Amino acid sequence: MPVLLLTNDDGVHASGLLALAEALAELGDAYVLAPEREQSACGHALTLHRPLRVERLGERRFAVNGTPSDCVNLGVLGLLPERPVLVVSGVNHGSNLGDDVTYSGTVSAAMEGTLLGVPSIAVSLAEGGDLAEAARVARRVAMRVLVEGLPRKTLLNVNVPAGTPRGIRLTRLGHRVYSERIVEQTDPRGRTHYWLGGGEAQWEDLEGSDMGAVHEGYVSVTPLHLDLTNHRALAQLADWPTRLAPRPGGAPGRPRPPRG
Ligand code: MN
Repeated sequence: MPVLLLTNDDGVHASGLLALAEALAELGDAYVLAPEREQSACGHALTLHRPLRVERLGERRFAVNGTPSDCVNLGVLGLLPERPVLVVSGVNHGSNLGDDVTYSGTVSAAMEGTLLGVPSIAVSLAEGGDLAEAARVARRVAMRVLVEGLPRKTLLNVNVPAGTPRGIRLTRLGHRVYSERIVEQTDPRGRTHYWLGGGEAQWEDLEGSDMGAVHEGYVSVTPLHLDLTNHRALAQLADWPTRLAPRPGGAPGRPRPPRG
C-alpha cells in the first residue's frame, strides 16, 4: 500500500484530522503526523531553533511539538517507512479562501509537501459544515490526484461549504476586504494594546473566485502555484536601470562574507 501523510494545523486531536484519516484509510497506509497543539494562522513557519520531538500516539499516529510544515518535513524526509505519495492537510475547522491562504498553516503544509516534490492537497470546511461531507470530498480529490498527479509546483486548495455541497467548481483565489482595521483598547494598568482581525470580512465579487463558489454552496478547488514570480511584471521592469552607481571614494569594496 502506498504511504500517505496527513497533517493539519488544528492539532493532532482535532476531529477534522480524525475524519480525514478514516476517509483516506482505504487509499493507502495513512500516517498522521500533526502538531501536538493548535497552530492555526502560523503560516509556513519552520522550527529551526529548538529540537523537535515526536510522540507516538498510535500505530500510525504521531504528535510533533512543532508546526504543520515541520510535520511535513519530518514525514517526507525520513520519519515514515517510505516516502509518501501524497500529502493531505486538514480537514481544517474553518475555510481558507482568497488572500487568507497566505496565513494558513493548513495550506502551508500542502505548500511544504509541494516544495518537497510530493503532490499535496489542503482541505478546509466552512464553519457549521459537515465533517463527513468534507472527508468524502477529500477522498474523491485525493483519488483523482493519486491517479492523475499534479502539475509541477502546484497544490490543490479545497474548501467545502456548509450544508450538502451542490457540486465542485474549479476556482481562482478571491480577494478579501476587511472593513475594520485594528481594535485599540486599554488594559487595567492603563497601557494600550491592539487586536487584529476584529472587523467583519467581506470579499470582492470576482468572477470564478473560491469565495463565490463556497458562498453559493459549491466545493471550491483552486490550483495554487508556488512560483510567486510575477512574470508580467518581470517583462514590465525590463527597462529598469540595473547598473549600480559606483561607491563614493573609488573602487568597489570586496563582497563581505555572509553573516550569521
Ligand atoms: Mn486551523
